[in-house]
Amino acid sequence: MTLIKELKIKKQPKQGMLENVLKQFNTAADLVNLNPNIKKILEVTNNELIIHFPVRMDNGNVEIFKGYRVQHNNALGPYKGGLRYHPTIDIDSVKALAMWMTWKTSLAGLPYGGAKGGIQMDPNKYSTSELERITRRFTYALGENIGPEHDIPAPDVNTNAQTMAWIADTYMSTKSPSERSKNQHVVTGKPIGSGGLEGRDRATGYGVYLTIKFWAKNKKIDLKDKTFIVQGFGNVGYWAAHFLELEGAKMVGVQDAFGSIINKDGIPVELLYEYIKTNNGSIVDYPNSNAILKEDFFSLDCDICIPAALGNQITEENAHKVKAFLIAEGANGPTTVEAEKILLDRGIEIIPDILCNSGGVIGSYFEWLQNRNGELWELEEILIKLEKKLNDVFKKVLQASVTKRIDLRSAAYFIAIERIEKAYIQRGIFP
Ligand code: NAD
Repeated sequence: MTLIKELKIKKQPKQGMLENVLKQFNTAADLVNLNPNIKKILEVTNNELIIHFPVRMDNGNVEIFKGYRVQHNNALGPYKGGLRYHPTIDIDSVKALAMWMTWKTSLAGLPYGGAKGGIQMDPNKYSTSELERITRRFTYALGENIGPEHDIPAPDVNTNAQTMAWIADTYMSTKSPSERSKNQHVVTGKPIGSGGLEGRDRATGYGVYLTIKFWAKNKKIDLKDKTFIVQGFGNVGYWAAHFLELEGAKMVGVQDAFGSIINKDGIPVELLYEYIKTNNGSIVDYPNSNAILKEDFFSLDCDICIPAALGNQITEENAHKVKAFLIAEGANGPTTVEAEKILLDRGIEIIPDILCNSGGVIGSYFEWLQNRNGELWELEEILIKLEKKLNDVFKKVLQASVTKRIDLRSAAYFIAIERIEKAYIQRGIFP
């Protein structure tokens, strides 16, 4: 949520997210009976950029950084997807995340394709001015590989509105004076006052909450007094928890990069949020809570589990211990294909990432439109528009799931891939 001074980030095991997204895609492609030629196009990425760039550190030394931008597909419109600053970023994880963006924007019916990028680093090791120079130099190195009508980055793990403001300013500064303001929508998730959208900060977490609400309504389940756990108390995890608590649900467990805490009587979301601001962004040692082992987190007693941190967190090893009846995927790719099978067999439902966290990219689309048209939208109308859009998408996924007797992820993929296939069939393959 902030460029938080996290105490340390443990190196994650090799994530294998690419394998995961390809397995999901292949299953869906068979289901849709996808045209084999179009399948060949979609199982690879259009462009992959790896950039090594130098940055001067505060102590005068120069450090070399490795940045990535992968553009998976743009059949439906400009590439769109976040930038992540994290030590586990590598070409395969960025390819996987870019593919998920293609399915997500297609499912939401947006005029976008899919991309993702980031820098392989632990941002907590750098001062704010170093982070600014790293971001600006990376933006400069990306050059015309990004652009407001070509490829539009947004925040992701360890990047935020400030990061986007630096990118927008750097990119616009490379244009002639009369062209600068036309390029403001080169990124979304900017601060309000620099072209940002009211409510973009909460759009993803609000969307996570809304999809839980739609799901519960369909099942005739009252969210009041239901318990939930959240992995990742950053932008997505915090806002999802904030809105669920307003609905009367109770947060009983939280995990972040530093530790895991529980309290079966409830952890007040706003108090924890205030606490982390005074604790270097960490939830550790929050009063009125007990610490538990990291590996015990997903087996906590609760009704709803919200993974909102990194990929491949719910795996074959822990899926059989999950107690929640619903998993709402705030993060991208938090559940492996093998874990999903175990969960579905156990009757645990999953709101898939490409639906559950799509409030973020829908909010980004609103910001992009606002900048492009020189408009300023108000928070209330934005939240109403977001709810309507997500509700429409949710209903379509639910309907496909019921009529085709498939789980929610397969239904979401079905709709997303069919839309892209249709565009290719209409246009053909050049030349
Ligand atoms: P963030 O940087 O704001 O927060 C990340 C949180 O995850 C922090 O609390 C951090 O401590 C925690 N975390 C990091 N490593 C962890 C680990 N190993 N175990 C447990 N917790 C860990 O990031 P965010 O923007 O909230 O993104 C979270 C997830 O949501 C990512 O998967 C991202 O791709 C996805 N997502 C974000 C957006 C968005 O708009 N920000 C949109 C769609 C999807």
